[in-house]
Amino acid sequence: MSVVGFDVGNLSCFIALARQGGIETVANEYSDRNTPCVVSLTDKERAIGSAAKSQMISNYKNTILGFKRFMGRSFDDPLVQSEKQWMPYEIVPAENNRVGVKVMYMGTEKVFTVEQIMSMLFTKLKTIAETNLKKPVQDCVISVPTYYTDAERRAILNSAAISGLNTLRLFNDTTASALAYGIYKQDLPAPEEKPRNVIFVDMGHSALQTAAVSFNKGKLKVLATAFDSTLGGQNFDRIILDHFAAEFKEKYKFDVKTNKRAGIRLLTECEKLKKQMSANSSELRINIECLMNDKDVTGKLKREQFEEMSASLLARVEPTLQKVLVDSGLKKDDIYAIEVVGGSTRIPAVKSVIQKVFGREPSTTLNIDEAVSRGCALQCAMLSPTFKVRDFNVQDSCPYAVLLRWSAPMEEESDTEIFPLHHAAPFSKMLTFYRKEPFSLEARYSNPNLIGYPDPKIGAFKIKNVVPTPEGGSAKVKVKLRVNIHGIFTVTNASLVEKVEVPVEAPVSKKEQKTEEKPKVNGEEPMETDTANSQNGEESKCEADSEPKMETEQSDANKEDTPIVEEPPAQEQNGAEEKTETKMEADDSAEKPAEDKAKPVEKKTKTKVKLIDLPVEQSLVMQYNVNELNLMMEKENELIMNDKLEREKSDSRNAVEEYVYDMRSKLCEILSDYVSEDDRNSFTLVLENTENWLYEDGENETKSVYVKKLEDLKKTGDPIVRRYVETTHRPAAFDQLGKSLMHVTKFLQLWNEKDEKYDHISEEDITKVGKIHQETSDWFNTKMQQQSQLPKHQDPAVTLADIQSKTKELSKVCDPIINKKKPKPKEDPPPVPSEKNGNGKDANKDSQPDSKTPDAAAQPENNDKPADETTAEQPGAGVKEDMDVDLD
Ligand code: ATP
Ligand code: MG
Repeated sequence: MSVVGFDVGNLSCFIALARQGGIETVANEYSDRNTPCVVSLTDKERAIGSAAKSQMISNYKNTILGFKRFMGRSFDDPLVQSEKQWMPYEIVPAENNRVGVKVMYMGTEKVFTVEQIMSMLFTKLKTIAETNLKKPVQDCVISVPTYYTDAERRAILNSAAISGLNTLRLFNDTTASALAYGIYKQDLPAPEEKPRNVIFVDMGHSALQTAAVSFNKGKLKVLATAFDSTLGGQNFDRIILDHFAAEFKEKYKFDVKTNKRAGIRLLTECEKLKKQMSANSSELRINIECLMNDKDVTGKLKREQFEEMSASLLARVEPTLQKVLVDSGLKKDDIYAIEVVGGSTRIPAVKSVIQKVFGREPSTTLNIDEAVSRGCALQCAMLSPTFKVRDFNVQDSCPYAVLLRWSAPMEEESDTEIFPLHHAAPFSKMLTFYRKEPFSLEARYSNPNLIGYPDPKIGAFKIKNVVPTPEGGSAKVKVKLRVNIHGIFTVTNASLVEKVEVPVEAPVSKKEQKTEEKPKVNGEEPMETDTANSQNGEESKCEADSEPKMETEQSDANKEDTPIVEEPPAQEQNGAEEKTETKMEADDSAEKPAEDKAKPVEKKTKTKVKLIDLPVEQSLVMQYNVNELNLMMEKENELIMNDKLEREKSDSRNAVEEYVYDMRSKLCEILSDYVSEDDRNSFTLVLENTENWLYEDGENETKSVYVKKLEDLKKTGDPIVRRYVETTHRPAAFDQLGKSLMHVTKFLQLWNEKDEKYDHISEEDITKVGKIHQETSDWFNTKMQQQSQLPKHQDPAVTLADIQSKTKELSKVCDPIINKKKPKPKEDPPPVPSEKNGNGKDANKDSQPDSKTPDAAAQPENNDKPADETTAEQPGAGVKEDMDVDLD
């Protein structure tokens, strides 16, 4: 199982992995840890991340950036409409009024939804993680802005699933930073002590997010969050662009805003200038060659001016920070630190506002760029069984209050704020309704003005198959509502509570006469406690009957969802959308007291409660249906396949190109002697023609055409290369054979001289050795002579393989004979019977510690040099069998 955290920003993405050594932010194929959130479609393939960013200007119409803000929105969405003007690509309505981008891909006009573009980015991020981990990646945690509504969150989940990712949790940006901060702190207050309160401020490219978080040993609790979802670094870039656009209009008489390409070039330079200004308060210049109408432009700006220009933006920072302070109920003195992350917190004026609001300098304990991805990887490690992570409970909060509405027949609509603002999340609540027929619930955000999303509706949920009781009364229906681990509101399940009377033989007990009457609280609101359907004892219960009456019983932290689980609940991991089919039965008779058991047994009945699962039909805002998702998944797989084919094609094309360049230069240099002049000229011509073909007719051929082309070239080129290789290595091979022959010659000579060393070798063996020695010597001399008469450009008279095989053959016959062991002389009987001395050792041996037995004496002879040398000089030992020679 993989443990990966993805921080998908509006501008850039970061990937962190958990490995044995800890959490690590990893680099992409360009050795950059920052992977731009950009997708570029070309006539051949998709370029994603760094490769796409480099096409931002050359292929601006088909290069999609800044699309994270459009996730889960409709084409008509005011944000989409206002952002359109800033985007170099064309935004069009796609099917079901989704946000589409119109691009030219593989020579055809195509419309992709932004969710598809996001899955392309996920495919890339997944590949980068896989390359680093060297194994497939599926399980991951992905960061989302805290301000994302359900529709936006669901869109991210869908895009990730399309790329084959299994999102264990969508993790709010600031909560991810808080986890990355808290989990390493060894000095947090004990659980019963006053918590340590930290404010996190994350200002990225598109938004400002902040959270007040309290820490105790082993846990963090998000007290409140606040954000400005349209205030980020890009707003400052645009202010600088507006400034220069106006200046250039006057100075150079053109409007850069009328030319998309020029617009992107200027915006890129403005962002660079903004970053430079963070470190430099003196006047800085901007120079762009040929920006528009063939005119080079130049401009200058000072930090002071920039801050004046950005006053309206800077003024928007404070209210968000004040809101988190107010909502959290913290006083400035209660705050331990202000931790900043996100690139835009590097702007000195932003830092000043933070300092002013909280009355202290912000700290940068965390890595400004990587903290979110690291927090996500940590959370993934906690949710995955692969790693054991220190227990750390993460209690997030609801960024928006959620309202639940229902109606009863003949009644007016009623509602309740089921999850108030900053309510703990994830969290479940149980509602009980009394109904005779199917009914609907509608969830929506309580305060439409705060959500930054045009539709305050979350979704409608129809509870089906509700029927009256056998007596014709209202049936009791329990509905479990939940803000799940991704921060998404769901109706987890609905069940019909049926009472059944079952005969039972039991002593009479008052408790068994329990009825199902609703207890009344304050006359109006009925209270009921029933944990029969509670999985974790953390559910709140509401009850609503046809004259809507409510009751709530709050419980605090949800233990089931706490991310610090070694075995996370499967249902949570996969999102809580699926409905369980399980039927639960609960006995509502209380446990019998011990004394009851002694009482006389009496026939009676008791009430059992049976829970029957009811189907829930949901209709969610901007929801993708299963067919749409399957189709998108199919398309993404097609695109992945196409990219793979394209990569293979370009690899084989590059191989031809490389061969042409390599061969052409080598034919004039190291290979020139190994080919006749005529052949060299004609081959050089072929190579030149191939090069031209590669840039003309053969520019976009199939992989097989390139493979065939390379094969054809190699038919001519390989023999030349082979002759070069043979010639280069032939002397060494001949030398090796010569040495082997010399060694045999020496042996034969010693034997003839009746040297004691070889007097045990039989004549028969010597004949064998002599014969092969003669044959090999003759072959050696003949081949040497033949070869010396041949020019280099002709095929050799003898190959390296032939020489090596001759050397081997000689050694195979001669070595066993030459190395034959001398037989041991017969041992003399011991002069005296062996006796044990006091040490229990052989007295004889002890008395002659240095004497060698004939056997022992013979031993070193066998290890003598000549034998050793023979072994070391095994024929062929100096020449590799499969020689791979690099011409370079
Ligand atoms: P978001 O969180 O809004 O989705 P993101 O996570 O991609 O976006 P970051 O990478 O945190 O954003 O920050 C990028 C922004 O920070 C850009 O606008 C960039 O220009 C800005 N930025 C980076 N470095 C500096 C700097 N030194 N001075 C000013 N701004 C900077
Ligand atoms: Mg960010």
